[in-house]
Amino acid sequence: MEDFTTLTTDVLVIGAGGAGLRAAIEAAASGARVDIVCKSLLGKAHTVMAEGGIAAALGNVDSEDNWQVHFQDTMRGGQMINNWRMAQLHAQESPDRVYELETYGALFDRTPDGRVMQRAFGAHTYKRLCHVGDRTGLEMIRSLQDRVVQLGITVHMEWTLTRLLKEGERVVGAFGYNRVDGSFVAFRAKAVILATGGWGRIYKVTSNSWEGTGDGVGMGFEAGAEVLDPEMVQFHPTGMVWPPGVRGILVTEAVRGEGGYLKNSENKRFMLEYDPKKKELSSRDVVARSIYKEVEAGRGTPHGGAWLDVTHLGAETIKKKLPSMYEQFLRLADIDITKASMEVAPTIHYAMGGLRVEPETGETTLPGLFAAGEVAAGLHGSNRLGGNSLSDLLVFGRRAGGAAGAYARNIRLGRLDERLINQEQQTLLLPFSGEGTENPYLLQQALQQAMQDGAGLARDEKGLKGCLNTVLELRQRAARIHAPGSRRYNPGWHTARDLRFMLTIAECIVRAAIERRESRGAHWRLDYLEKDPALGKVNFIAYSDAGTVKLKQRPVPQMPPELAGLFDDAASPGALKSSSTAAPEAKRIPA
Ligand SMILES: Cc1cc2nc3c(=O)[nH]c(=O)nc-3n(C[C@H](O)[C@H](O)[C@H](O)COP(=O)(O)OP(=O)(O)OC[C@H]3O[C@@H](n4cnc5c(N)ncnc54)[C@H](O)[C@@H]3O)c2cc1C
Repeated sequence: MEDFTTLTTDVLVIGAGGAGLRAAIEAAASGARVDIVCKSLLGKAHTVMAEGGIAAALGNVDSEDNWQVHFQDTMRGGQMINNWRMAQLHAQESPDRVYELETYGALFDRTPDGRVMQRAFGAHTYKRLCHVGDRTGLEMIRSLQDRVVQLGITVHMEWTLTRLLKEGERVVGAFGYNRVDGSFVAFRAKAVILATGGWGRIYKVTSNSWEGTGDGVGMGFEAGAEVLDPEMVQFHPTGMVWPPGVRGILVTEAVRGEGGYLKNSENKRFMLEYDPKKKELSSRDVVARSIYKEVEAGRGTPHGGAWLDVTHLGAETIKKKLPSMYEQFLRLADIDITKASMEVAPTIHYAMGGLRVEPETGETTLPGLFAAGEVAAGLHGSNRLGGNSLSDLLVFGRRAGGAAGAYARNIRLGRLDERLINQEQQTLLLPFSGEGTENPYLLQQALQQAMQDGAGLARDEKGLKGCLNTVLELRQRAARIHAPGSRRYNPGWHTARDLRFMLTIAECIVRAAIERRESRGAHWRLDYLEKDPALGKVNFIAYSDAGTVKLKQRPVPQMPPELAGLFDDAASPGALKSSSTAAPEAKRIPA
């Protein structure tokens, strides 16, 4: 066995995005010693890229807003396969989490009378997104990071953890490598929190950065945790299209929230037809499909998308409300959006699926292992509403951190199993020592293309089965991967391990997508266009059976009557009108 360093802590947090930082703060507040590990530098992560805002029913702009309406919007957006308890906690606790962020130093945009400003966003009944221009994630990460530094929490940057270590069924640590010099490290911890974000990089066209390879879900799956609804992958309607080098980069929904119009090649606002009520602010799945249909009907833009126009808002508003978008298009596409339309098309953006967790604590199906943020699943059902991720990170990051801290108080450190460490070292070193000749980048590209083509926005049985065959073939080829060079600064070597996670998750996505023979939320089956009421009552679970991906169904948790009463159709959620993809109007109830 190669040498490795062993570090000991109470709570190990893997990931330094919004969920990881908020979890670490809470675990530290409960008296635990906390260590955070992240693949890149503190202050990076996807959270910093978030633009549009944080959804919380403060009622500052629309005073009728309250947690119940937010809860209904979230459930309806997810087409009722969400975990109702997570949606309830999220809607109830988001306002406090936003105000708390201001106590850490965040400063949101203000209403004229000095309250936190809120903007409209897709499928939210009221103006609900608290924001800082279109740089909300930056403000959020900056203030959380300041708090982490104040609390003296140790952050290990540029380390990748790749294997959860168990004693029996209990997770007692994790193993991985330093990205700079390739040295190995083992963490011994009383509790582990996964906050590793999503898996957008499994696809070719995505808004996600290189970090979004699904490591946490991969590690959890390999250790025996359950993966919920992996087939639910969000296609954000508006990513950049041109020039090719920027394809997929996000064009925030705030552009439509501030009043932007989507138009086809005939200069028509086509959303007026697809969803006359909510128009451009329909839910993301509806808008993404509408753009797809316009392109299919021959009314797309030159590079296969739609036009997004804000010129009618005036240059001053655009530069004040959407400064990042203004700069993004000017710098990357040489387009001044105060004078010309943006060309946009759907881009893979968010994983609604992820590790199955307990709503109150974020505990996964493995003792000692907690998860929060995009790596966890349940809150968003089959489609996430914009802004609901940032509030998810705060609400469930705090809950997971508190629960992990409490768990750590009452348990001893576990024993690290050298056999598991040895196995992981062999897996990591295989690209140097094996006989293989497969190039990690080429395999990754082949996977991304296969997923884009076969498990993309519009799916059918034939495409999905073809995609599954490719994924299985790539899994075999990945066993013969070769990375030239040494362990120092070697991204090819890093990609070799990332790829294993990506392939496993891709298989989970495709197998579940084949089995969900209906259209629901982000999952659009051209061969099953309607909702199936029976499938509206189940979530799919992917799990490892001696390393093989297996699927099972689990009943969607039943809402208590007082919450079910908020929906006319909750008694048979699968029967939500399938002819209309738009969410029905939320029921108004007193605060
Ligand atoms: C461009 C863009 C704009 C968005 N805008 C909004 C918005 O306006 N509102 C909204 O609600 N949502 C938005 N989202 C979604 C939201 O930003 C993400 O869902 C959210 O930030 C995810 O946070 P997280 O803490 O779960 O993970 P991330 O922020 O992705 O952080 C993951 C962390 O885990 C670390 N990590 C990963 N793997 C490993 C490993 N193996 N070992 C060690 N560390 C690891 C990473 O280094 C990183 O620190 C946007 C997303 C994008 C990409």
